[in-house]
Amino acid sequence: MKLITNGIKGTEDILPRDSYKWQFVEDIMRGQAQSYGFKEIRTPVFEHTELFNRSVGDTTDVVQKEMYTFTTKGGESVTLRPEGTAGAARAMLEHGIYNEGYPIKAYYLTSCYRYEKPQKGRQREFHQFGMEVYGAPSPYADAEVICAANSIFDRLGVQNLSLELNSIGCSECRPKYHAALKEYFSAHESELCDTCRSRLERNPMRILDCKSPVCSEIAKKAPTVLEYICDECKEHFEGVKSCLDTVDIKYTVNPSIVRGLDYYTRTVFEFVSNDIGAQGTVCGGGRYDGLIEELGGQHTPSLGFGMGIERLLLLLESQGIEIEQPPVCDLYVVGIGEKAKLKAFGIVEGIRNASLIAEGDIVGRGIKAQMKYADKIGAKFSMVIGDDELTANKATVKNMVTGAKREVPLDDGFYDAFFALYVNGANDTFMEKLGLN
Ligand code: ATP
Ligand code: MG
Repeated sequence: MKLITNGIKGTEDILPRDSYKWQFVEDIMRGQAQSYGFKEIRTPVFEHTELFNRSVGDTTDVVQKEMYTFTTKGGESVTLRPEGTAGAARAMLEHGIYNEGYPIKAYYLTSCYRYEKPQKGRQREFHQFGMEVYGAPSPYADAEVICAANSIFDRLGVQNLSLELNSIGCSECRPKYHAALKEYFSAHESELCDTCRSRLERNPMRILDCKSPVCSEIAKKAPTVLEYICDECKEHFEGVKSCLDTVDIKYTVNPSIVRGLDYYTRTVFEFVSNDIGAQGTVCGGGRYDGLIEELGGQHTPSLGFGMGIERLLLLLESQGIEIEQPPVCDLYVVGIGEKAKLKAFGIVEGIRNASLIAEGDIVGRGIKAQMKYADKIGAKFSMVIGDDELTANKATVKNMVTGAKREVPLDDGFYDAFFALYVNGANDTFMEKLGLN
């Protein structure tokens, strides 16, 4: 086979045989979001480039190196979203939903695009689940989003994740910290990578986040932010920690966590695993009290997180957490001959209308091949309809697990008869699972 082209490097196809894993994880995310009072927001895949320059920050790796930016036929610069927060904040402001009263709680499940070197846990198209809260200055809000993220890991049964917590201060205390960092890194200026040298003046904190081995080695001995944060920031941080202590969520204060996006203030956090290689951060987030103002809105303390779904699935796999395959077929109806096939088609449709899963032949297989196929897809019951069955107006339903057979009418009584069997059949399987059969 010679295909005209392949999928783009750094992207992945989620195939029908695997998509149930995604759906399972997404269902848990949606369910937990609902428990915490969040409603879904969906925003466009592309935005005006300046949105990300301003919010993510033009000294970040994301903006400097990773964005998919292009000029449209109309001459506008647009960018595929590299993360979910900026678009959500933009939409919230544009539609004035803050008039509905604070807090606003939104979640998203979305694809993101970053031009990065593809490797395990790092793709060019990836997916995030994220939560956003607007208009919530209290440390209870920080703790609430951390609890929400944590609850998803709990529901999935993920083990050995460490929650790393830090405070990176606010616009009051940040300048003092920047000055200390500038002084420290200036002494190492010649050793820094080109990007970091240019960051020295404008945003030395970004150097702490640089992935180059030399810069990160130098960064290890840099002054830490917690020595510089103001009393209010300290109090806020203590508040967050008290909430987490109350609900017994364990964390480690890690002063080297600064996060890769510029909009963060005060609380930042990451959930990190050692089980999935170098890209171990499964979830990252924190507070961004200045973001809404940066985008032209009023001062609106906000916060949230982004969780990488690919990394989460890698983690489930590495920890041997199995996701049950959804049922494929409750009843397979084999039809032999044109008239019987039509009858089978009608019954299959009737079962589906009753919200069970039914299948019939759409390939043109013979009777044996149809039975084999019913077996292969794990049909719970099967039924054959041929001329004899049509004449007698009766057919035999077979329980594919126990082999038990039962006669059913092919008129309107069919559905009641089948549902009775279906319920018993489910019990049979249940008994079998318990070893009582
Ligand atoms: P990293 O340090 O791994 O580059 P980041 O700080 O750039 O991560 P965020 O912008 O905070 O990541 O994104 C939130 C989450 O999205 C990450 O914790 C990770 O799980 C996931 N993520 C980020 N970039 C990628 C990517 N290129 N491929 C897959 N998942 C990603
Ligand atoms: Mg990154």
